Amino acid sequence: MALRPGNTIGILGGGQLGRMLAMAAAELGLKVHVYAPQGDNPAFEVAAHHTVGSFEDADKLAEFGAAVDVATYEFENIPASSVAALACVCPVRPALPALAASQDRLAEKEFLGSLGIETATYVPVEDAGALARAVGKLGRPTILKTRRLGYDGKGQITVREGSDLAASFRSLGGVPAILESVVPFVKEVSVIAARGLDGSFAAYDVTENMHVNHILSTSRAPAEIESSTAERAITAARRIAEALDYVGVLAVEYFLVEEPGPDGRLDQKIKVNEIAPRVHNSGHWTLDGALCSQFEQHIRAIAGWPLGSTERRGTVVMMQNLLGDEAENFAGILAEPGAHLHLYGKAQARPGRKMGHVTRITRKA
Ligand code: AMP
Repeated sequence: MALRPGNTIGILGGGQLGRMLAMAAAELGLKVHVYAPQGDNPAFEVAAHHTVGSFEDADKLAEFGAAVDVATYEFENIPASSVAALACVCPVRPALPALAASQDRLAEKEFLGSLGIETATYVPVEDAGALARAVGKLGRPTILKTRRLGYDGKGQITVREGSDLAASFRSLGGVPAILESVVPFVKEVSVIAARGLDGSFAAYDVTENMHVNHILSTSRAPAEIESSTAERAITAARRIAEALDYVGVLAVEYFLVEEPGPDGRLDQKIKVNEIAPRVHNSGHWTLDGALCSQFEQHIRAIAGWPLGSTERRGTVVMMQNLLGDEAENFAGILAEPGAHLHLYGKAQARPGRKMGHVTRITRKA
């Protein structure tokens, strides 16, 4: 069922994504209720209501669900059982299958494989013995990743020549993992797409992402890739969204590899790295650089409203994350003509912490 202006959207998670979603909802005359555990929750400042509670507290979540018209999440590491319980009280969009597929790297890769979508080669690893067998198959260097709770390079370790396998497995907490081959990518790109309640689909231009220390540093839209590669990336994102009967904004991260084709020219191939069932850092450029931002798009989709235009403003849009004390240069950025500054209102800057971002749009001369 579609919402009406004045209805309330519940958001699980109180970080910057929740904050920017809440601001977009307010512009459309919707109220927001944010649910997040104790901590620095910048989304609380811009929401009509908030609840401090743990994602494991079924009673509190049920109370929250009863107070909202639809619930969504800004963060995928919420226990699936909590989201399932919430779904008994109010609609949850995107629904559980998307969350379940994206919070477990093995389930995610099996799901993608079932659609015939390529990923890095991988082997499941349940214990240190299985790691030795997996390294026997995939060789070194390879990357060991925990199945759950990994992000921004956390929960992963490279298995190199000479690495002690038992120690590598223990260093990630001895939890179920997968071993992945290293993809010799030339670029990392992502697709931010949306699927409406009526099955409509819209995607932004493919974005090219530059990481430093595993954390997104800058994004560029459009990505400098062949148009046929961009089309394939968007088609794969659409197939993923349709297979999950997805409602909302979805991000799909890809590795781009170049391999010599039969005619000797380099062919561009894409492999999915991961799926995020939510708005995504690599889509922040859309706030200033597209007719409808990813945040408004997500709100429209989960409200059951028509999707907005993904058309880009300007020729090239660059987004730069402001990490740690980089945000201290806010006055310098504000003084720069045409720079759009977004600060998340976080109380404390720590090295690598996302404090804000800045968008710069190049227009045709
Ligand atoms: P992830 O947390 O899986 O998104 O990994 C964070 C970053 O590590 C990616 O954006 C890549 O830069 C790098 N990375 C992860 N997996 C691989 C892989 N299989 N091959 C090469 N680089 C990888």
